[in-house]
Amino acid sequence: METFTVEAVVLKTDDFGDANRVVTLFTKEYGKLEANAYGCRRSRSPLSGAMQMFNHISAQITRGTKVDTIRDADILNFYDALTKDLERLAYASLLFEIVNRMTFPRQQELETFELLTKSLPVLSTRNPKIAALIGACQFMETSGVQLNFSRCVHCRKEIVGDAAISLLDGGAVCLDCIDAAQDTRPYPEALRKTFETMLGFNWRNDIKLTFNTRQLNAAENFFIEYVQSILGTGLKSVQFIRDFIN
Ligand SMILES: [Zn+2]
Repeated sequence: METFTVEAVVLKTDDFGDANRVVTLFTKEYGKLEANAYGCRRSRSPLSGAMQMFNHISAQITRGTKVDTIRDADILNFYDALTKDLERLAYASLLFEIVNRMTFPRQQELETFELLTKSLPVLSTRNPKIAALIGACQFMETSGVQLNFSRCVHCRKEIVGDAAISLLDGGAVCLDCIDAAQDTRPYPEALRKTFETMLGFNWRNDIKLTFNTRQLNAAENFFIEYVQSILGTGLKSVQFIRDFIN
């Protein structure tokens, strides 16, 4: 049977049986992969410790006819703060859930892999809500379903000052086109600048990360509504954030 090595982040885990886990990896080489990690919940297992969400690992996987199996794994980086701090856990889960729900298996997406590995240290040390929103915003940009935040989706003019925005039409609407647009809502200049700053963020850990609280909350609510409208269902991590964080 073919065995191959991947570098990956652990996107999701689901326990089954006495000590096993189905692990969803986002790999550098093949994009999203699911594999079984048998016995990994036993402390003596060579996989013990590595098969945890948010770990950055290197793993050996054997291809199976129905399911792949993780044989061995080494932890390259782990982020303790993400499992110990409820707010960090909640927002890191939000970013990881969005990536998991909006990617297809076995499609290599190097940009997404790099986004996940770069966002983890920022999520574990800086404001996790801001880090998760930046990550989600940048991920949507690479996934090809991003809203147009800076140009009017009707006349393509660059947006200046306050305008409107429409989820149905796919982004910003200038005041001249507002009558032609469907289901618009206000899109203040400050909210546009918040999105533009997030899209331009370069993930250096020393960079300034401050946003006006009101605009940040508006960006969060707006963005989550947009993602959920694409998915057609709610995100579990959003429920968790609403129940325990906000
Ligand atoms: Zn327009």
